[in-house]
Amino acid sequence: MRIAVIGTGLIGGSLGLRLRSSGFAEHVVGCGRTLENLETALARGCIDSFTHDPVSAVDGADLVFLSVPVATMPAIMGLIAGAVGEQTVITDGGSTKQDVWDAARTTLQYPNRFVPGHPIAGTENSGAAAADGDLFVGRRWILTPVEATDADALDRVKTMAEQTGAVVQTLSPGRHDQIFGWVSHLPHLIAFALAAAIGDDPDVDLEFGGGGLNDFLRIAASDPVMWRDIFVANQAVLRTAVDQYASRLNLLMELVNDPEQLEAQLHRIRDSVRAARGSEADDKS
Ligand code: NAP
Repeated sequence: MRIAVIGTGLIGGSLGLRLRSSGFAEHVVGCGRTLENLETALARGCIDSFTHDPVSAVDGADLVFLSVPVATMPAIMGLIAGAVGEQTVITDGGSTKQDVWDAARTTLQYPNRFVPGHPIAGTENSGAAAADGDLFVGRRWILTPVEATDADALDRVKTMAEQTGAVVQTLSPGRHDQIFGWVSHLPHLIAFALAAAIGDDPDVDLEFGGGGLNDFLRIAASDPVMWRDIFVANQAVLRTAVDQYASRLNLLMELVNDPEQLEAQLHRIRDSVRAARGSEADDKS
């Protein structure tokens, strides 16, 4: 199978690495803007060849994987729309799904051959240098097909995702964004805000921070462009989540004047977390 990976960074590079080493891909063409990253992708075995031109990248491809920041997807789709054949299947790895699907259905010539997707795996690092062929092993890979999605296109993408060791699950694009707005986008926004508040206070000495703070700071060291695009794309869900979070934060602070009530609240929260949390929760975008 010939695969074009447009955006050969952490996610695209990791996919290429895995699909080449497993033999699923006969040839992986990488596509991006900077020569240095594409040369790294080639040297690391993520791709067989590269181009800066999305149109040449998709030429003859059986499968196209878009792994650029989500706000860049519409422009890339516009460029490749006339160049992909009816038999080519397109999918993506973007962290939001409704915006990506909206772009696909209004831009692509054959939107029923587009299967939106989101691997629930990643790190705070970017670029092909951070690619890892085992990144997706045991992780969820969400696909968000719609009614019009061709069954064989869905099958091809599902088979590709399973080749990486991921477990495929399907959701609607809207439900995906609702869920990940809460379990991923809100925690990332909080981490950025916390890092800003701490970083701007001259009296705080980060050297004294322990594991909990370091987890927040690790998350806040994630790629700004990628997260800007996610926050903008999923702003409606995020707005509700932020409002609810802020009101809980204020409520807990108000209860410092009523230690008994505060303890009761903390007990209630702890018990519900313990009940809900069977195993370590996913902390990926
Ligand atoms: P990344 O490492 O920064 O890779 C993005 C790649 O896209 C880069 O190699 C970049 O290469 C290329 N690119 C950026 N803008 C471009 C443009 N305008 N035209 C062509 N290529 C462009 O980011 P990533 O972490 O792999 O994320 C890729 C996608 O996966 C995003 O949609 C993100 O939401 C999603 N995702 C990320 C994670 C995560 O934890 N990182 C997890 C799941 C899903 P050049 O700069 O050389 O062009």
